Amino acid sequence: MHIVLLGPPGAGKGTQAQMLSMAFDLLHVATGDLFREAARLGTPLGLQVQAYMERGELVPDEVTIGVLLERLKQSDAANGALLDGFPRTVAQAEALDRALAAHDQHVQLAVYLKVPQIMLLARLSGRWFCSYCGSSFHSLYRPSKEEGICDRCGHALHQRPDDRPETALHRLEVYERLTVPVLEYYRQQGILKTVNGDQSVEEVQRDIAEAIGNREGSVSSESSARASD
Ligand code: AMP
Repeated sequence: MHIVLLGPPGAGKGTQAQMLSMAFDLLHVATGDLFREAARLGTPLGLQVQAYMERGELVPDEVTIGVLLERLKQSDAANGALLDGFPRTVAQAEALDRALAAHDQHVQLAVYLKVPQIMLLARLSGRWFCSYCGSSFHSLYRPSKEEGICDRCGHALHQRPDDRPETALHRLEVYERLTVPVLEYYRQQGILKTVNGDQSVEEVQRDIAEAIGNREGSVSSESSARASD
């Protein structure tokens, strides 16, 4: 099963993907995480992508597509994956479809986490991450028990540099321009399911889990979701 999780920066894709990958025993693949790890290790890929990430720009398609498809070739992805933060352009979506089709596979479901624009900046600037175990927190919505310390492993939490307000704003503009057309791409395929991301983490998770469970019926659920877009 291949599922893509779409939505603006700050919609909660990473938090949801972490929980859903465990619940559905699906590999979680986040291109942003792959790039951040490469940058942290200072690999050639890391050096190549760092400047784009710091500016809140998208990494060029040919680099991103190469990294993603390489990751999907690994044996732990044989049964599919939950893609978080990919595709972000129509060219990426097309490349993914072509690569999956070569193995008689396809994307079963595209979940669009819809969050009002006005909430996104506040969401982005309150995010805290543990670089040791990857857990995520939010100073307003999901605070850690002790400020600045990871509940799960006790290591220090940090903010992503690209969550700074001016960079975050630019990421939202890039999203509108390049990623919103991807929603239409999956809508036309009849596999887009819109989930209200402006709810508690648990409610969003419940709605996504329901969409995954009902994915055969996703064409009819999409037509009702579409009416509310
Ligand atoms: P994320 O953690 O998903 O917000 O990604 C962090 C950054 O990595 C983005 O702002 C981009 O610079 C880069 N990135 C992640 N995924 C992609 C993608 N699918 N296409 C292009 N750039 C990406």
